[in-house]
Amino acid sequence: MSAVEALKAARAAGVELALDGDDLVLIAASAPPAAVLDALSRYKAKIVSLLRPGRDGWSAEDWQVFFDERAGVIELDGGLSCPETEAQAFACCVVEWLKRNPERSPAGRCLGCGDREHAHDPLLPYGTELNGHVWLHSRCWPAWYAARKDRAVSALAAMGINAPVGRPMKPEEQPKHPPSGVTRELRTAKNQFAFQRQMKGG
Ligand SMILES: [Zn+2]
Repeated sequence: MSAVEALKAARAAGVELALDGDDLVLIAASAPPAAVLDALSRYKAKIVSLLRPGRDGWSAEDWQVFFDERAGVIELDGGLSCPETEAQAFACCVVEWLKRNPERSPAGRCLGCGDREHAHDPLLPYGTELNGHVWLHSRCWPAWYAARKDRAVSALAAMGINAPVGRPMKPEEQPKHPPSGVTRELRTAKNQFAFQRQMKGG
């Protein structure tokens, strides 16, 4: 089991995880299975880093909530099968990651091939006014964009958000992570829960 899998198992068991400094706080309606607690304890340091916001301001937890929300909206709108819904929700995550992790490059040189502008081969700005641009030859854009997408996919995978792999998940395998509205309610009402544990940092 990896840290990401431990986190998923905890969510599936109805455990809410939060950070208190370097400590990991677990909240659940009832005591989680011992195997889940063991895994959380073993991977605590890594899990704390998964829950901490990354360079783009979102933690792995935030990405999971975003994925679940997108999947919920797509499911309501489209009546798609589960793998299709997940594939679309994953695509939304990739777009969001690219938006939150913009790249910039100085004008006058192609970020793809490193070459300069030529009369027959101009450099074009790709990006938005808000986030800045990268400069590329139009022929260099597809490879650059494919590499960016690969980076998005691996960054998301490192946080436990994966493209679905062709096989529909069985209901008992589905994560039971509550949507963010419910999560907030859980947070405000957390003292009512029977199970709460703080795993000390260090
Ligand atoms: Zn180029």
